[in-house]
Amino acid sequence: MKQTPESSDLEIDIEALEQKYAEERRKRLRADGLNQYAPLEGKFADFAKDPHADPTLKRDPVAEEIDVAIIGGGFSGLLVGCRLRQAGTEDVRIIEKGADFGGTWYWNRYPGAACDVESYIYMPLLEELSYIPTEKYARAAEIHDHCRRIGERFGLYEKALFQTTVTQAAWDADRCRWIVRTDRGDTLAARFLVSCIGVLSTPKLPGIPGIAGFSGHAFHTSRWDYAYTGGDANGGMTGLEDKVVGIIGTGATGIQCTPYLARSAKHLFVIQRTPSSIDARGNRPTDPDWVQELKPGWAQERRDNFTAVTSGANASRDLVNDGWTTLFQTLMGTGGDAATTPPTPEALRLAEMRKMEETRQKIDSIVHDPDTAAALKPYYHYMCKRPGFSDDYLDTFNRDNVTLLDTAGRGVERITAKGIVVNGEEYPLDCLIFATGFAFMTDFTKEAGFDIVGEGGQPLSRHWAEGARTLYGMQTHGFPNFMLISYVQSGASINYVHIADEQALHIAHIVTTCLDRGIAAIQPTEQAEAGWVNEVLESSAQRRAFLETCTPGIYNFEGKRGRAQQLNDLYNGNPMDYLARLRTWREAGTLQGMETR
Ligand code: NDP
Repeated sequence: MKQTPESSDLEIDIEALEQKYAEERRKRLRADGLNQYAPLEGKFADFAKDPHADPTLKRDPVAEEIDVAIIGGGFSGLLVGCRLRQAGTEDVRIIEKGADFGGTWYWNRYPGAACDVESYIYMPLLEELSYIPTEKYARAAEIHDHCRRIGERFGLYEKALFQTTVTQAAWDADRCRWIVRTDRGDTLAARFLVSCIGVLSTPKLPGIPGIAGFSGHAFHTSRWDYAYTGGDANGGMTGLEDKVVGIIGTGATGIQCTPYLARSAKHLFVIQRTPSSIDARGNRPTDPDWVQELKPGWAQERRDNFTAVTSGANASRDLVNDGWTTLFQTLMGTGGDAATTPPTPEALRLAEMRKMEETRQKIDSIVHDPDTAAALKPYYHYMCKRPGFSDDYLDTFNRDNVTLLDTAGRGVERITAKGIVVNGEEYPLDCLIFATGFAFMTDFTKEAGFDIVGEGGQPLSRHWAEGARTLYGMQTHGFPNFMLISYVQSGASINYVHIADEQALHIAHIVTTCLDRGIAAIQPTEQAEAGWVNEVLESSAQRRAFLETCTPGIYNFEGKRGRAQQLNDLYNGNPMDYLARLRTWREAGTLQGMETR
């Protein structure tokens, strides 16, 4: 139901709530900030193993010259490949760590994995591929199949190098080529290098004391061990029938897999540090009558409409009309009557406070045990953390075989050989699952796992040591013919794939223009880059101030934001304006702000 600020008359005490929010924030602030997490390497390397790959795969190393090397075969890499092919650039190779395309959807196959951004706008190229998703919110397997469909349709499988990890990329100024090396001994000399390593692709573990000493079975959700649990993404995990299972993490992933674990495990402990806000998801099968009515161009129109609506446009129509769009209209004072009479900042603040209070009250109406219900209530502003959408997560806590272990913001105290220690008590476990997320906009080369060496032998790790510097989030001075798709300094939408696809078009335009015009090397001028960096900083001032009031989490770099993190931020201006600007730049055809040779 659409809710405008005026439609709710819920009584709330704003000052008391602000104090409570600040208190909850203080409880969670830690001196180690982002350093509380450990990557899946060294003693945790086993956690990173690919359960879907062929461990016996052997192939001869590839040595060749090509036009474009793309690192990463998730949606962004596939879209760059597709847009390049459409623009007439054929000589393209994707290098991918996994054994297939898919990226996020290759790795995340945990039970219940799905996308809570509507499938009709999230899954790209639907019209080009004549494909209509089967449900409003598609499950992981269907999205993964769609990734494969793109790979097949655009001939990207032919030259893909799977189960292959890039170890180094260095600019050869004499040849105007990137020399890309891999862990399988390949050496590619590419005119252009495009990094599409993903924005949530480096799993992280919490640095909980004793974590390496657990003697039971343990894995990260992005490497789900079905060999141990049995079953599949639809549940039926018979291997857990006699097992006591603990899951650490109650973010978007934890919310999706917890109900499935509860249905399979003998007993499930859900270990919570900060509760998520939970809104209704309301999934439903695709209506064939609706499909019949679709007109050419519908997918682009719907996708644009969603990004416009969720970024504050007074759109006359809300085509997606789901939790995201209705909530954003409430919080931004757009939509409904508010579109003609803009609400005051006070009214908006009240609407946001009421929205969170309604979320908390809804928990009381679903969860029977009052202590559990109280512990599940989120006390922070909406969008401090990524909101969750689920129709069965909260009800899971009414099951006899499920216990919420709330850590009152402190997290798991210790992990022992037998289990976990929470609030001074040890809970023995057979299996411990880490739904503890991924590195997010931290340090590009650390997340990539390799360095990129640009002009004059300067590594990107050094160039960006004080924070990223880019033009439009896609190119950086000193690194000719290198382009990337990430969130850093890039326009942003709740629908990540929307922006990635437009950036893919942009990258394909630059590459094809250079190849057509015989341009050997292209990079942004220092001046153009500095201008964009300033715009990024200015655009994020308001969001920065907001995030400083938030509970620690991935959006505010765990509450410890330095200069580098300010620069590693999104471009917080209007994303539709950002996309229009890219389009105007391409249409001008003058390569403005670039130096070429
Ligand atoms: P998150 O980073 O969102 O969540 C990690 C969880 O682990 C948090 O609940 C965190 O608590 C908890 N945690 C971390 N350390 C400890 C500790 N020491 N003790 C106890 N708990 C701990 O990861 P997710 O994988 O859930 O989600 C990552 C992102 O992936 C999302 O933001 C979203 O963008 C994307 N995603 C999208 C989906 C979709 O449907 N589109 C589905 C799933 C994921 P705390 O909150 O206190 O830090």
